[in-house]
Amino acid sequence: MKNITILGATGSIGNNTLSVASLHPDKFNIFALSANTNWRKMQTLCEKFQPNIVVMVDKKAARILSKFVGNKTQILHGIDALNIIAAHNETDYVMAAIVGSVGMASSLSAAKAGKRIMLANKESLVLAGDLFMQTVRDNNAELIPVDSEHSAIFQCLQSGKSGLTKIQLTASGGPFLHTSIEKLQNITPDEACDHPNWSMGRKISVDSATMMNKGLEIIEAHYLFNIPAKNIDVVIHPQSIIHSSVYYEDGSTLSQLGNPDMRTVISYAMSYPDKIFSGVESLDLVSNSPLEFYAPDLNKFACLNQAFEALKQGGNAMGTLNAANEVAVEYFLNNQISFLDIAKIIQYTLGTIQHTNASSLEAIVANDKIARKTTHEIIKRYV
Ligand code: NAD
Ligand code: MG
Repeated sequence: MKNITILGATGSIGNNTLSVASLHPDKFNIFALSANTNWRKMQTLCEKFQPNIVVMVDKKAARILSKFVGNKTQILHGIDALNIIAAHNETDYVMAAIVGSVGMASSLSAAKAGKRIMLANKESLVLAGDLFMQTVRDNNAELIPVDSEHSAIFQCLQSGKSGLTKIQLTASGGPFLHTSIEKLQNITPDEACDHPNWSMGRKISVDSATMMNKGLEIIEAHYLFNIPAKNIDVVIHPQSIIHSSVYYEDGSTLSQLGNPDMRTVISYAMSYPDKIFSGVESLDLVSNSPLEFYAPDLNKFACLNQAFEALKQGGNAMGTLNAANEVAVEYFLNNQISFLDIAKIIQYTLGTIQHTNASSLEAIVANDKIARKTTHEIIKRYV
């Protein structure tokens, strides 16, 4: 029996993790859950899963929740309490599924405590890739990707990297693959969040529409698999059936395929190296044909290029890219800037923040703060 902590339990990945765990009560016990403010959803989860500990980051939400939850569950509040459940000595596996850079510290705590980290929070690697991977190694933690592309590559590389020449991330192209740049100007948040294949939280859905999500995933892949940017590329595959591929010098290519459903990815992270039932139907190739592939349009999807450049530049460029994107996407979701403004604002911010190679946790956190402040200022001046 493995005790699981889910950071970000009320979100899309959190939900899917609980759904897989429910199928295997003999294998997984829900030990701890966290959420930001959504106490109603957490109350339902507590009734169903009876966790030992719950963290509500918001103090008021924790106080309300405590009136509705029985004595078996201890309720904590505050951002630092996330580190307690991530590193708790009764926790075996940690699902890191908080959205945004705010999830980095708790992922890092799980790494320091030598846990199996099922990493959905790609921002941890975008902000602190070197530090995070070093912490995993130093503490014998286990790092299993929870991103469909990276899980695919992780699976393809199970027999090693001998003769590997390239890894290729597939991208669906999002809802605007065939939309002209002119029409992108007037896109609404709901249109941007209406992803054709995947059902996800709103922030990552907007990232998929701008293709910043694929950009962040290039950085994620670089750190997870220790592969230089020049050996990583992206292909558009609108059906999202091939989840990613690895290429070898003998001319062969391995890919992982499946229906686009995160329960496959999550169940693999929970059961690795075994495979278990996830609730996802097996793939029917005939009904999904034809499968299409295109080269990405870097002019239309400027964010993809920005991420490639930030990775090549190294240092704090990736943290700046991420911070500017998080702030810009929030403004877009609140109808305060247009869809095309997102890439422009990121570019201004990248051009404004001074480049450094400092990589301590303090330097990373300080840069994140400055980049956010700068992005807010740029938006105020610009809009
Ligand atoms: P979501 O918006 O559905 O859920 C986010 C979770 O984070 C919620 O539980 C929320 O309570 C918590 N949260 C939000 N702000 C917080 C804060 N300030 N402090 C503490 N907790 C906070 O997001 P999601 O789609 O589940 O994505 C989660 C992570 O997984 C992201 O990093 C995303 O990039 C990654 N990811 C998601 C998918 C997917 O299919 N949804 C696929 C691959 C990777
Ligand atoms: Mg992905």
